[in-house]
Amino acid sequence: MTRYARQARFNEFGEVGQEHLSAMHVLIIGAGALGSHTAEMLVRMGVNHLTVIDMDIVELSNLHRQAVYDEEDVSALLPKVEALKEKLRRVNSSVQVDALYEEVTNTNMLELLERVQPDIIMDGMDNFKMRYLINEAAIQTGIPWIYGAVVGSKGSVYAFDHTGPCLKCLFGSMPETAESCAINGILPPVVQQVASIQVSELLRYASTKGFSKLLITVDSFDMQFKTLNVDALKNADCEICTHYNYQLLNQNEHSPIEDLCGDATRFRFNPQAFDYANLIPGTLYKSNSFAKMIRYEDYTFTLFKDGRMNVHGLTENSEAKKLYDLILKSLK
Ligand SMILES: [Zn+2]
Repeated sequence: MTRYARQARFNEFGEVGQEHLSAMHVLIIGAGALGSHTAEMLVRMGVNHLTVIDMDIVELSNLHRQAVYDEEDVSALLPKVEALKEKLRRVNSSVQVDALYEEVTNTNMLELLERVQPDIIMDGMDNFKMRYLINEAAIQTGIPWIYGAVVGSKGSVYAFDHTGPCLKCLFGSMPETAESCAINGILPPVVQQVASIQVSELLRYASTKGFSKLLITVDSFDMQFKTLNVDALKNADCEICTHYNYQLLNQNEHSPIEDLCGDATRFRFNPQAFDYANLIPGTLYKSNSFAKMIRYEDYTFTLFKDGRMNVHGLTENSEAKKLYDLILKSLK
């Protein structure tokens, strides 16, 4: 245990916290900014087992804030989970890290939790729809989870143990995507701060002190750190945590065109599109077994095995629909 002696010597965490952490299985949903940093901290600290799920590849525009990835990962078109797993193995080979190169959706969320059986879920997502989905699944299964969000220079964290308000109690209906990092940008320091606070909540849980039960907000530019007791926001008539009337779980729909966080738009085609990528207009300039990159006019397409495609270079929404139809037609 000498490896972890310095953290175990911190009294409030102590040998008890270390023992619990060393037996814990953590699921991180998303291997982007928050997910990759929480993963690294937990592996360094000696968590027993980590499962990370994500289905993006490392892109150049990620590197300014996602410190575990580098230019080699970008040029190798590596999935984030694969790059992360390799880095984490070098950091602490005694931790079991499972990398799931899969997308989390309404339809597979419960099956995922059933398969992974985590003790706790860490939110590493960049959109509220996914967080509302995690909220519903966590309530359904009783698994505690730690919400974390960043936009601009601001971030917030709250850890849910299902005794206080749920995400829906806290924020009401799902916020519109207006507050997305595509519009507001994001400053890297707040990512590290929020990831650190998420891990601190997990350490409180491991130490048996329990979550802080505080809504924590930070602003890494205005230098603000605030905590707020939100117990009173628990809604005794909440659709989700009182009536279990889930709005996202098992809802079976995927929009074929979707705005992503960043300057990208996501198209969805059949998985067969990956094998027939040569039919798509443009030039295939890079590919491996995970992804194919195509240049067409001023656009770049990253096509994934499951038929998802990230499109860069779109300026108007109407352009998206036209381009989507063009590609769809080429695949027929
Ligand atoms: Zn609720």
